[in-house]
Amino acid sequence: MQTTSIKAYGTEAADADLKQLQIDRRVPLAKDVEIDIMFCGVCHSDLHFARNDWGMTEFPVVPGHEIVGRVTRVGDGVSKYKEGDLVAVGCLVDSCRTCDNCKDDLEQYCPEWVGTYGGFDKHLQTNTHGGYSERIVVDEEFVLRVPENLDAAGIAPVLCAGITTWSPLRHWKVNENSKVAVVGLGGLGHMAIKLADALGAHVTLFSRSPGKIDDAKKLGADEVIISTDDAQMEAAMGRFDLIIDTVPYEHDLNPYVNTLSTNGTLVVVGYLGPLDPMLVTVSMIMGRRSVAGSLIGGIAETQELLDFCGKHNITSDIEVINMQDINAAYERMLKADVKYRFVIDMKSLKA
Ligand code: NAP
Ligand code: ZN
Ligand code: ZN
Repeated sequence: MQTTSIKAYGTEAADADLKQLQIDRRVPLAKDVEIDIMFCGVCHSDLHFARNDWGMTEFPVVPGHEIVGRVTRVGDGVSKYKEGDLVAVGCLVDSCRTCDNCKDDLEQYCPEWVGTYGGFDKHLQTNTHGGYSERIVVDEEFVLRVPENLDAAGIAPVLCAGITTWSPLRHWKVNENSKVAVVGLGGLGHMAIKLADALGAHVTLFSRSPGKIDDAKKLGADEVIISTDDAQMEAAMGRFDLIIDTVPYEHDLNPYVNTLSTNGTLVVVGYLGPLDPMLVTVSMIMGRRSVAGSLIGGIAETQELLDFCGKHNITSDIEVINMQDINAAYERMLKADVKYRFVIDMKSLKA
């Protein structure tokens, strides 16, 4: 297979900083779109994966799955895109395309889904490499169209932070009668507030950080509950139809379950792993309450979200950084010191 060598940023070990690497991209095949990457968002999953928090990372890793750029070349069989189009790639670059999940536009639950990084690249027989790079080559079925009225840097986080919160909002049919709460004001949390607000819901933020109250209200939250204040948590009992929990690390879900209304659901999208303390079933049984999980979103649903953002003029609140600043950005993300998503300007890598 013909390849070209390009510049990327990644790491060869969990305890090493990210640094510049060379990686190969395939020369576009018949159904491929080659994209010159303009911007790539920085997701907390990039940090988890680079540092092997989930114990499944194979090195080297080139993170990045919030990719926006322009098409530079397409294969002979491509019909959806042409050179110059503003496009995006999210967390998925392939799937089996034949299983029930794929047929239902739920490629993210396909047993053979291929992640944008750390997946298995059937063409090059190596791991896939993500958006902290100059270019990417992706099958047209996994490329998304970006509305031209939106800021290209600001829309990047919609490809993961946005779709990961949009998918549960849609699945649980959030509308103007819904009471939605969001746990944690970071990348996912701030998109969840904006999107739930745009769907007309009453929106509450649970945060540990009193310093974020004003920001949350500007983003669209109707109220903020400080989660470390027992009196405020007590007063919120039985109130929410849907809670989206974006906290990245182990924490106690029980106080949040108590704040669900009858038939309410708490959807975990942040923390991946066993719970400590464990879930107590009492308040689930007493109120027919559910605790669920949700993974990103499918390709059709991601396009639906990009179009919704185009129509409602929604982008992410971002801090643009250079590729060379990524290690400092990870340290700030660990301290929840991001307003509210870092986005890498890929010109800094190409220079
Ligand atoms: P982020 O920007 O770092 O935001 C996380 C927020 O959680 C923080 O801003 C903070 O908000 C809150 N938080 C509570 N306890 C924390 C702690 N011990 N350390 C740090 N923050 C804490 O992260 P993100 O990019 O939104 O990602 C959130 C999680 O979702 C990550 O674990 C990521 O891997 C996961 N994720 C899942 C999916 C999926 O498909 N399910 C997709 C993307 C990302 P306050 O200051 O307001 O408390
Ligand atoms: Zn992500
Ligand atoms: Zn499938």
